[in-house]
Amino acid sequence: MSGAQDQQKMAALVESARQHLTANYRPAPIVLEQGQGATVRDVAGTRYVDLVAGVAVSSLGHGHPRVRQVLLDRADKVLHTSNLYYNQPAIELARRLTELTFADRIFLCQSGTEANEAAFKLARKYHRSRGDDRFEVVSTLGSFHGRSMGALSLTGQPKYHQGFEPMVPGIRHIPYGDIAALDAALTPTTAAVFLEPIQGEGGVRVPPDGYLAAARELCNQRGALLVLDEVQTGVGRTGHFLACQRDGVVPDILTLAKGLAAGLPLGATLAREEVAAALVPGSHASTFGGNPLCCAMACAVIDEISAPAMLQRIRQLGDLIGARLSEWCRRYPFCVEARGRGLLWGLELSQPLPSLVDQARARGVLTNLIGEKVVRCAPPLVIREDELDAGLSALEAALTAAAGAA
Ligand SMILES: *Cc1c(COP(=O)(O)O)cnc(C)c1O
Repeated sequence: MSGAQDQQKMAALVESARQHLTANYRPAPIVLEQGQGATVRDVAGTRYVDLVAGVAVSSLGHGHPRVRQVLLDRADKVLHTSNLYYNQPAIELARRLTELTFADRIFLCQSGTEANEAAFKLARKYHRSRGDDRFEVVSTLGSFHGRSMGALSLTGQPKYHQGFEPMVPGIRHIPYGDIAALDAALTPTTAAVFLEPIQGEGGVRVPPDGYLAAARELCNQRGALLVLDEVQTGVGRTGHFLACQRDGVVPDILTLAKGLAAGLPLGATLAREEVAAALVPGSHASTFGGNPLCCAMACAVIDEISAPAMLQRIRQLGDLIGARLSEWCRRYPFCVEARGRGLLWGLELSQPLPSLVDQARARGVLTNLIGEKVVRCAPPLVIREDELDAGLSALEAALTAAAGAA
């Protein structure tokens, strides 16, 4: 247990945060400081099982020895080179990503938003560079692609658009998982189709089997590029290095970020040679892109996560979560559906349970809600089975308490 003094210190920090940070988030009133594996500790000393992983970011959990080693190794080296010069970690990371995926070339940046912005621009530029007048992009309802004007316009959730209109023109949104709707939406001016293999922020929506493959086929027939946003599903999250590799689907462009660098900001836009060729000198850039520390961290993450035994373990843990959440759906009327794959799961509730996240935290587990009715379970990929078990038990107790209070 934590002392009253530590609690006071934390309360003062929260108060300061509320005064000085913009109020565009609704953070829980705790300040996290330390962690080990899938357990984090706040500044007042309270421990929590982390079932959020900073929204699918802390892939190696907390306090991982490889992470520490990278930080130490890079401490005396240049922290930034700009893109006027090369740096070794960026070269190494690009090589590793091309070895592990369909991609021939990698554009490096800082976030999922930025990776998608680059993908959007690249899709248009590719067609323009061939003298083709294709500029339209088809995206899906319920999708999430980021918050810059381009990525926001791709995002198929009107609530995020409110007050920021007009959106970037040339984007249409169709129902997710509906191949007939995609067929109908493709026109001779379609440049690209943007899809998440599983919609993350849309509520962990898993499309019908064969959806990605059918989308690939339609894009081939109609001359549109297939862009997969794997910012949330990539880098092992679903038990495959890329979620699309499970289906054997090869996109033209694919984006990564979130778990790529274990918590350091790094995004990547992956592309086939023919498509990437549109990025000629001066066409696109990012000052911080290819940061050596972030890229060295990503190389360590890839070493750890891409091992077949690791990916298999993620799939097995995913089966455990799926079984547990499905059991709750049979047992509790307020649990409606469990969806997910690997270590990315959503539990749909029949109604909002406003006190759930607080109830969970009071029982020593961090979870979060997507929208009002989907509980996300996306722990660090290195979570131990006993940690996961304890976290889920606490979550179950929190759910029944929150349902009782609702
Ligand atoms: C989180 C997310 C983004 C945005 O990433 P940021 O790093 O927050 O810019 C884009 N696409 C998907 C699928 C995401 O889950």
